[in-house]
Amino acid sequence: MGRLIYLDNNATTQMAPEVINAISEAQSVVYGNASSMHSFGREANKLVEDARSNIASLLECSTDEITFTSGASEANNTVFMIAKSLIEKKGSGRIVTTTIEHPSIIETVKYLKENGIHVDQVPVARDGRIKIDELKKLMGPDVVLVSVMTGNNETGAIQPIAEVSEIAHSYGALFHTDATQAIGKIKVSCKDWNLDYLSCSGHKFYGPKGVGILFAKKGVPFMPFVHGGEQEHGRRAGTYNTISIYGTGIAAKLAQENLDEENRRLWKMREALREGILKTVPHVVVNGCQDQQFCLPGTLDVSFENVEGESILLMLDMNGIAVSTGSACATGSLEPSYVLLAGGLDVELAHGSIRFSFGRFNTMEDVEYVLEVLPPIIERLRAISTR
Ligand SMILES: *Cc1c(COP(=O)(O)O)cnc(C)c1O
Repeated sequence: MGRLIYLDNNATTQMAPEVINAISEAQSVVYGNASSMHSFGREANKLVEDARSNIASLLECSTDEITFTSGASEANNTVFMIAKSLIEKKGSGRIVTTTIEHPSIIETVKYLKENGIHVDQVPVARDGRIKIDELKKLMGPDVVLVSVMTGNNETGAIQPIAEVSEIAHSYGALFHTDATQAIGKIKVSCKDWNLDYLSCSGHKFYGPKGVGILFAKKGVPFMPFVHGGEQEHGRRAGTYNTISIYGTGIAAKLAQENLDEENRRLWKMREALREGILKTVPHVVVNGCQDQQFCLPGTLDVSFENVEGESILLMLDMNGIAVSTGSACATGSLEPSYVLLAGGLDVELAHGSIRFSFGRFNTMEDVEYVLEVLPPIIERLRAISTR
């Protein structure tokens, strides 16, 4: 096998060399507990606070509005459990979210519904964008929390976050966005979007795995999800993952510096692949966003008629190309992606979907290689297809 091409950057990213260097150096010297008052603790605490300030700058918020968690999944869970507490305290209330959120929200919604919390889910159109009219119909003074993701991990669709935030606030609801896929690809601003809560995760923007970021605007309700020590002013217990938090801060700084250039580069590769596939492979449907302003720049989701996505994935893998079948969490279960189905895609087509997601370390040569390898794979699979 010659080359290895990683086109699964929406699942996770390779750490940036700058991050690897910074954490390698730090982890050989800094080992104190960041909560300790002695010099070892203070040294560790400085790394955590450096990271917090880089992240606050990237997200356009203040440092005391940032809480570190174990990942975006925990950050999302925390926000929904805050809403649950508020609803239980009031004795009434409702959450409004969408049908296309990440499983860390979809499954939390399932749990909340089983536990008597009323949750409504706004449907999406074919381009993966939520139906704003349906959202407005679902709104009312009893809505406690509205949660709509910034950019979708499968279709790449970007939602009108500023507009949704305004709608939520006009009904007196709190507004949360899961911006995990958007960080480092488009500008995300807690201030401009008037957010109450935001979740994201370092490993999706070239940082280490296991560090999540939860923004909570000054003064909004906050109940801890993980109880214990007084870390993060009592908002999230547990010894600081000092070195990885530090690495996340370095990654945040890089994300901010490279934002515009990275956005353009990713879009060029995505478009070259999309055009190349449409030119060389018949019977293909491009899923999700079409219009650049509503697209995460590096995401391309495509359905191939009469082929199983899993078969394509395995054949590409044999050729050193790593992709996803749309939903990482559906892998192994052979269930088609709920996100694609929510957009109204035919079940058969959803079974034949592949997600290509570009990142900082991909080049146009990777696109050319995929366009050499992919068409004969589809042709061969269709020739042996029983469908
Ligand atoms: C990856 C991802 C998450 C989960 O992040 P973890 O840090 O892995 O828990 C949540 N939301 C979206 C949109 C994601 O892409």
